[in-house]
Amino acid sequence: MASEPAVHTGGCQCGAVRFRVTGPLDDASICHCRMCQKAFGAYYAPLVSTRGARLEWTRGEPKRFQSSNLVRRGFCGDCGTPLTYEAPDGVALAAGAFDDPAGLAPWIQYGIEGRLPYVQGLSALPARRTEEDEAAADFLSRIVSYQHPDHDTGHWPPRTGA
Ligand SMILES: [Zn+2]
Ligand SMILES: [Zn+2]
Repeated sequence: MASEPAVHTGGCQCGAVRFRVTGPLDDASICHCRMCQKAFGAYYAPLVSTRGARLEWTRGEPKRFQSSNLVRRGFCGDCGTPLTYEAPDGVALAAGAFDDPAGLAPWIQYGIEGRLPYVQGLSALPARRTEEDEAAADFLSRIVSYQHPDHDTGHWPPRTGA
């Protein structure tokens, strides 16, 4: 008996762009190359290949920047969340944009000639939970998130005053 294909959803921080991937996602990686650092504004890019699966944009669509003659980078035009790496051989999605990225563990690092010198020591840094920062307690008690939740929504932003 065939089982249902796996379905993964995700989207940008503001919720203007949402995606759904149907099928197996077993090729997650991080890329240290300078292009990926820049495109993600980060030390490296976490990417999940959608090759062999079906990718649909279920709300909105990314804007694209042609970062080279062969590759486009997709991002939300409203909030700027990096979303895709689009090459001739397929599209990869930003791992952190998935609603449940915990199940998408990377298995390989690419572009290590660009790896920043402190990246390998990150896990050894001092570590704190958010609520341990007593100086931020007032700030944290007043903060209201406008981030889209980690699941699909019928309406977004939520209708108020209705
Ligand atoms: Zn957005
Ligand atoms: Zn790269």
